[in-house]
Amino acid sequence: MLTDSHCHLDFSEFHHDRAIQLHQAFNAGVRRIVVPGISRKHWGRTLQLNGEFCGVRLYPALGMHPFFMSDHKAEDVEELDRLLSQHPGQIAAVGEIGLDFSRTKSSTEKDEDADSSQSSKEEQLALFESQLKVAQKHGLPVILHVVKAHDQTLKLLKQYPDVKGIVHAYSGSLSQAEQYVKQGFLIGVGGAITWPTSNKKRELFTQLPLESLALETDAPDMAPDGLKGQRNTPDQVAVIAKALAECRGMTVKQVGRVTSTNVENVLHLAEVCPLVF
Ligand SMILES: [Zn+2]
Repeated sequence: MLTDSHCHLDFSEFHHDRAIQLHQAFNAGVRRIVVPGISRKHWGRTLQLNGEFCGVRLYPALGMHPFFMSDHKAEDVEELDRLLSQHPGQIAAVGEIGLDFSRTKSSTEKDEDADSSQSSKEEQLALFESQLKVAQKHGLPVILHVVKAHDQTLKLLKQYPDVKGIVHAYSGSLSQAEQYVKQGFLIGVGGAITWPTSNKKRELFTQLPLESLALETDAPDMAPDGLKGQRNTPDQVAVIAKALAECRGMTVKQVGRVTSTNVENVLHLAEVCPLVF
């Protein structure tokens, strides 16, 4: 059994063939998919992707993605809080949330050429912390998107010791990964593990205990090597499981079983019930 801990099945890229993709995912051994919402306008559809479809159980998460800061409004945090109160035990996590400093500047940094649409690091930190507070209030785990901001994230998480979750599409160092694991987080292994240029990543994913890893596709993005440049799909979690099994010298079955249990435990999936509209 495989679990895709991060798949944007609500995106328009899947509008024309969502059922076919779920059917293919089932045939590839996928039985659970976590669908993280990235902004308020996505939440309605994310929430609808809750329940079993084509033999695959879908679990929604709701959050505000740090890469799309201009889509978020201050009052969206209250709406997130309201939706979580309205649907207790039906939403798996707050996510995806986090920090993406790949193209941001600090408000104290002077850069004449900086695009004024770029968010500041301070704005991202404030939004991230407000969502960590919401997660803590509702006793929910979080799904993190962190790019070039692992130290800042780890520092902030120390203030929220009860909040656990998954660091999706992990891009940090081994020592940062070990700190996340100590804090109760799983490390997300995605399509990058199959890329020829990812030797360092493969080494890192071999050094961490299997009990600290989660598989994910991040579909429609982050396609594995064979699909590069094309739309990624949830059945590809089988390809990622195979790549991880190969570099760890384990069977795919073993990797699938342990990583599925990891996600089930950290996100308390056994306690998440389908919504009834
Ligand atoms: Zn994502």
